[in-house]
Amino acid sequence: MRTRFAPSPTGPLHFGSVRTALFAWLAARHAGGAFILRIEDTDQERYIPGVEALIIETLRWLGLEWDEGPETGGPHGPYMQSERTELYRTHAADLVRGGAAYWCTCTPERLAAMRDEQRARHEPTRYDRRCLGRQDEVERERRAGTAAVLRLLMPPGTTEWDDIVRGRVSFDNAEIDDQVLLKSDGFPTYHLAVVVDDHLMDVTHVIRADEWIPSTPKHLALYTALRWDPPRFAHVPPVLDTDGHKLSKRRGARNVLEYGELGYVPSAVVNAMALLGWSSGTDEEVFTPDDLCRRFTLERIHPAPAVFDPKRLDDLNGVHIRRMDVEELVEALEFHLPGTSKDTRRRLVPLLRERIVTLADATRLAEPLLGEPVRDDSIEFPPKGVSDDVAGALLDACIAAVEAGGLDDLEQLRETLRHDVDERGVKARVAFRVLFIAVLGSPVGLPVFDSMAFLGQETTLARLRTARTRLLRSSRNGA
Ligand code: GLU
Repeated sequence: MRTRFAPSPTGPLHFGSVRTALFAWLAARHAGGAFILRIEDTDQERYIPGVEALIIETLRWLGLEWDEGPETGGPHGPYMQSERTELYRTHAADLVRGGAAYWCTCTPERLAAMRDEQRARHEPTRYDRRCLGRQDEVERERRAGTAAVLRLLMPPGTTEWDDIVRGRVSFDNAEIDDQVLLKSDGFPTYHLAVVVDDHLMDVTHVIRADEWIPSTPKHLALYTALRWDPPRFAHVPPVLDTDGHKLSKRRGARNVLEYGELGYVPSAVVNAMALLGWSSGTDEEVFTPDDLCRRFTLERIHPAPAVFDPKRLDDLNGVHIRRMDVEELVEALEFHLPGTSKDTRRRLVPLLRERIVTLADATRLAEPLLGEPVRDDSIEFPPKGVSDDVAGALLDACIAAVEAGGLDDLEQLRETLRHDVDERGVKARVAFRVLFIAVLGSPVGLPVFDSMAFLGQETTLARLRTARTRLLRSSRNGA
């Protein structure tokens, strides 16, 4: 099996477009075949410089390595369509010789007027083949320098194929326009280039968005005219947002690379993407990329549109983070805990691992351990349900225990303090908020005793004493 991903560099990749790449990659990996990356940059007007680099970075970040393509090379290169224009012209000439394509010198104004008339008659808009019957004249016009496009002569009859996702698809060729194959600037359109390249690159399975279904009869007509065997097609359903709109650049769908900056890990992004339209046929939802390669088949893609729910990505991200080993997390957290040493991160990982949904959560959670405790005067101190007396006694007991080396045995420290507050008739869960606020600045956050151990005796005592002073001051003010 040889599959390809053929993005046009017209903007960064969003979740929907990368999902197509992922399916093509998984199909190839599952079958032990090859995955090709080809950049379809023949549309000079929509081209955005630098986007190829973003596409490459996105695929690499996700681990979707290609066997042939830009930078990697391969026997069927070049893999940028703008470097293959000669090939398209050669095959266009074959099509003209075989009578499968014809030149057209109709001006844009004439074509616009023609379409207006067709619309007024409630007919589908399509080229009326005016130039088809006057090819000699058109040839003279072209020689004299008149701009011309090359059009496919769509044959009569019907076109049918067995789509791996859609099943049998059938079109009446009469509904299909004579597609422009070469533009007046000599560049091919997508339709000619995609067929020539898929054939020359030995692509066996074309996996692409289902918006290309209406174009497939044109492509099949080209395969027939060039006497080539067509590949198999798998047209994958669109990805919708939770409001039911198709994800698109225009609707502000996020560049996939931004998920990295937001603290999503690539394996979770790949997992969430794979579930957009594919299912394993079991209840399982958590998969590593390796699991997916083993289990993925195109036959299990559902034709119905898939909905991208960011909540599901969050859930999967938390699960994937908890499955990472310490060293992987130490690496992955570098971006989100800037300026920290590996050793600091190694000590933070056990505190953070169970409490973060994204790696970026680590920034906020670790802040009171890496800098000063959060200072927020709106936080009530002592917290609700804890009297000044209980808070004072708890802080005193904790200070004494930490002074006596209590951080060496956190379990013992916790038990001693729990026992103390119990005796005073206050639940430890409630009373310990005093310690959270003293040490971290907030009643919630990282586990407080582990945080004390991370900070060490001196810093812990300083924070506990500051809280003790604050309490004395506020009781005096209150009195
Ligand atoms: N360049 C086309 C796109 O970006 C590729 C479509 C196809 O895979 O054939 O949508």
